Amino acid sequence: MAAKRKVTLFYDERVLAHAPDTDASFLPARLDRRIRQILATLNVPWKYPEHPGRLTAIMQYLEQNPIEGVHLASGRAATAEELGRVHTSAYLKDIYDLRGKNAWLDVDTTAVSPGSIDSAEVAAGTAIAAVESVASGESESAFALVRPPGHHAEPVRARGFCLFNNVAVAAAHAQAELGLERVMIIDWDAHHGNGTQDIFWADPDVLFFDIHRASPFYPGTGALEDIGAGLGEGTTVNVPVPAGSGDAAYLKAFREILEPAANWFKPDLILVSAGFDAHWMDLALNVSYEGFGAMTGAIRAVAQRHCKGRLAFVLEGGYNLESLPRGVHAVLNVLAGAEPIEPGICGFKEVEAAALFHRDAFIPPEDE
Ligand SMILES: [Zn+2]
Repeated sequence: MAAKRKVTLFYDERVLAHAPDTDASFLPARLDRRIRQILATLNVPWKYPEHPGRLTAIMQYLEQNPIEGVHLASGRAATAEELGRVHTSAYLKDIYDLRGKNAWLDVDTTAVSPGSIDSAEVAAGTAIAAVESVASGESESAFALVRPPGHHAEPVRARGFCLFNNVAVAAAHAQAELGLERVMIIDWDAHHGNGTQDIFWADPDVLFFDIHRASPFYPGTGALEDIGAGLGEGTTVNVPVPAGSGDAAYLKAFREILEPAANWFKPDLILVSAGFDAHWMDLALNVSYEGFGAMTGAIRAVAQRHCKGRLAFVLEGGYNLESLPRGVHAVLNVLAGAEPIEPGICGFKEVEAAALFHRDAFIPPEDE
């Protein structure tokens, strides 16, 4: 029997084949013209920000800064049946028809290149592999390093660089095949996970918790009042926050909203849509590496309380090539057993030390 692995990092190089290049010509021509008009109004030349270099930067950083207890495993492609649990068959057919082509899928510049459909199948399948690994007990926790990301993809629509909703496919698989009925999905990406919300909007067995930068920030959804509907009323939890919100706001939301919600819901499995664009270097919010570590520690505690620690992370956004790898590293470090560091206020320690250094410099002369 294989030794129990504490943390498994799932990575499959086929996710690098998705590489839209704006110099290529795209289908359909009408959408291509419209998007080029939009891009032409920008002051700087536009490059596709969700590119393969994101994942190679993460892998390189992890090789240079290995974490004991983190094991590497390869992924697999999701089948049409697995994707069909959250996407319609008509949508899948449209996407499959784009294999080998360059095409725009949305005016928000979601695009495919010839290798994209294979990458998207592997991204969703690798998220499933991560969930299978924690469900079987082979791993205590897992992280699927995948792209294209997934949380903006709706049942019938690709959006926001996302083709298939990886985390939703993984949740549906856990319910259908692994006997894990109640799934909690935590989305800490800077952007609201509109696709995940849509897919499970009326589903009482999936609790979707999403903290994100508030509308009008992309995609503009995720209002406080959006709590689900029908049987799923109450199992969608949105926490919109303003630009610049950071560690203290995120951790307050975890303590005061996420933890009571989990205690009420009692999940069998926890999934995290882990976007690292909430880091301050990505310029939308103000989370630090210590913040990502502390959030991971809080989620791990909830998973241990309710579901024997079953916890899988799926990569979403994060576009700064310095903070993305270091953010992933901070999460893996805590999953592997490091004690999270309580985030402080940036610069506070340094100012305290400086105050001590200068303490004697400005003492008023004693009165004679
Ligand atoms: Zn994002």
